Amino acid sequence: MAEHAKPAWDFHGGLHIEDHKEKSLGAPVREAAVAPRLRIPLQQHIGNAAEPIVQVGEQVLKGQLIARASDYVSANLHAPTSGTVVEIAEQPIAHPSGLPSDCIVLESDGDDRWIELPEPLADYARLDPADLRERLRWAGIVGLGGAVFPTSVKTNTTGRVVDTLIINAAECEPYITCDDRLMQDQPGDVIDGALILQHIVAADQVLIGIEDNKPRAIAALRAEIEARGIANLSLRVVPTKYPSGGEKQLIYLLTGLEVPSRGLPLDVGILCQNVATTAAVADAVLRGRPLISRIVTLTGNGVAAPGNLRVPIGTPIQSLVEQMGGYTAQAHRLIMGGPMMGFALPSDDLPVVKGSNCFIVASEDEIPDPAPASPCIRCGECVKVCPARLLPQQLYWYARSRDFDKTQDQHLFDCIECGCCAYVCPASIPLVHYYRFAKTEIWAGERERQKSDHARRRHEFHDARLKRQEAERQARLRKKKEALRDKPATGKDPKKAAIEAAMKRVADKKAAQNQEQEKET
Ligand code: SF4
Ligand code: SF4
Repeated sequence: MAEHAKPAWDFHGGLHIEDHKEKSLGAPVREAAVAPRLRIPLQQHIGNAAEPIVQVGEQVLKGQLIARASDYVSANLHAPTSGTVVEIAEQPIAHPSGLPSDCIVLESDGDDRWIELPEPLADYARLDPADLRERLRWAGIVGLGGAVFPTSVKTNTTGRVVDTLIINAAECEPYITCDDRLMQDQPGDVIDGALILQHIVAADQVLIGIEDNKPRAIAALRAEIEARGIANLSLRVVPTKYPSGGEKQLIYLLTGLEVPSRGLPLDVGILCQNVATTAAVADAVLRGRPLISRIVTLTGNGVAAPGNLRVPIGTPIQSLVEQMGGYTAQAHRLIMGGPMMGFALPSDDLPVVKGSNCFIVASEDEIPDPAPASPCIRCGECVKVCPARLLPQQLYWYARSRDFDKTQDQHLFDCIECGCCAYVCPASIPLVHYYRFAKTEIWAGERERQKSDHARRRHEFHDARLKRQEAERQARLRKKKEALRDKPATGKDPKKAAIEAAMKRVADKKAAQNQEQEKET
């Protein structure tokens, strides 16, 4: 029976919307077939792109490292199956910008043969957290809830105190059910991963936050927790309201603590991890497996048999659709992510990446095409629903007029791009597009500023070096002059004296040679 939650705290705004989740929840997660060709983008995470360490023509095994993290904030990539690297080049990928990106293209050999994996770390509780973070870094684990931030970096809380680890199992966006199915099918992995993460960040307690529209997942997790008799780990059921899975919103719902503007959960002693990331952590630590696949929801009226598949990273979306019975006659739009935060894709010939939690093949009436925008009528509806307590219409005005300083004064970076404002806007203004545009422009400006600061510092350094070198040269000259001045006076010009001495040496040598010749004759 469904469990209805009454939390002590509730965040401002949000929406109660039809969740459409039952469509894809019917069956357990199936393993997807390996497609003949996988396209693995080098940039699937926040931070720098990974650097390929394989060559075209090279044979690789499943789980083999094929691209190395190029920086601290970057992530390793491993081969999702065995086969041959046939290309390393720019390829189209699923990204809101629509721009292509460098990918490793792998042709499967059909054997799906694993490389030898590192030792499982079953005794993780005795290990140093730094060694466990190193395992997560090796495994290429990133946040699977959409943030795709490298987990080894996020869990490096050295010098900060973590009171509470929150496992985000809210999965609040309509249609998406990959986390729900994961919790139903693998509750043990979720709990294992939560305990490993608790050890890594030394959290006093773990709270798993889940919406009350997931009764089967709640039951599965509760049974697992009770069977193990785990202390300091509890399941907290919250009411279904979008976007309760927003990090700040969930923290408030579970603890009543507010993360400061532009601050981090760590500022209030909290670290959040998505539930699928948690299971991937268990896989890496307890089985030595890298992140080479993920659970993906494929749903909507446009697909014949909606459901969830565990999919090798790099699989083309069209292959998933085929495995779910193909398109129906109603198929109209393809969306990656949910209807609130996702974006439309131009084609299904694009690869699944670590951050792909859902694809919706929507019919025309299910998720209609955006209506043409009309002018803002200042109705204030967007303000009522904003969970970040922002003034969306003001943000829109400033972003539209490119007054980026003002957007920052209005806390643009507290906007979680949940889409609630755009959803209720009677003028159909694509508000989130404006906020994304403003953020991108500010970041680009910031990068330019950093670049010019760097160039200015280099110039100043170069200038200072030249001045220092000139000063050193002057000092050497001065020293020489002083040395000459301090030499005992001979009454002669030192230059002239040196020439005379040289001439005398030559004359002495010549005289010695003449004497030798005379002796011989
Ligand atoms: S909901 Fe739309 S029309 Fe209403 S104030 Fe906000 S931006 Fe303007
Ligand atoms: S998208 Fe941003 S401004 Fe709009 S409701 Fe969500 S948090 Fe508020």
